[in-house]
Amino acid sequence: MHARLKFRYRYYGGTPNAMQPQPQGLIVETGNGASVLQLPATTLEQIRHIAADPGASMLRLPPPANEPPAGARELDFDLCYVCKHCKVAFPSPAPLQAHQARSCYAGRESARGVIRVVQPALECRTCPGERFRTALEFRRHAETDTHRGTVPPAPPPELTHEMEDVVNQITLLAARAAQETPKDPSANFCAPSPRFPPSELPLASAGH
Ligand SMILES: [Zn+2]
Ligand SMILES: [Zn+2]
Repeated sequence: MHARLKFRYRYYGGTPNAMQPQPQGLIVETGNGASVLQLPATTLEQIRHIAADPGASMLRLPPPANEPPAGARELDFDLCYVCKHCKVAFPSPAPLQAHQARSCYAGRESARGVIRVVQPALECRTCPGERFRTALEFRRHAETDTHRGTVPPAPPPELTHEMEDVVNQITLLAARAAQETPKDPSANFCAPSPRFPPSELPLASAGH
């Protein structure tokens, strides 16, 4: 009886957060404050398990689909980097390293424990950089204008008569300009035309 009570005391008292509800996710230090990365309970359990091993580990999450849908390909991307000591996640290795050097592994950086969490995703073959965590998200994307906008555009509509007239006029003007362009640039040099008609010449005494 006594031993059991002691065990219970230690169980509840040993970890300060044991009485508080645990978030179903990882705390991510984004650099602009912390946020929670929602993850399935099984994944969180795996992370806790792997964190017990020393050194660097990798956890690859289940792929979004057994077979990538048509128009998409499977592509791994780094979801986050987790500190094995405190289980806080970081979006990239550099801030994790800074955190570990500063606190969790200060003075023993060679023993740093890291989990690289890899998320297999779907990338649109038409829109490079467009990634999706589920086949459903990809299919929704394939319906959007963003996706369709990158598909080669349809041939331009046929010219209307009005547009044809304008085009013909432009062509005509261009042809005339070409004819009027003197072959010798100095041909017009000695025959300047007056800039103003005489009636428009400015009069110095006007207004007095
Ligand atoms: Zn840490
Ligand atoms: Zn697309």
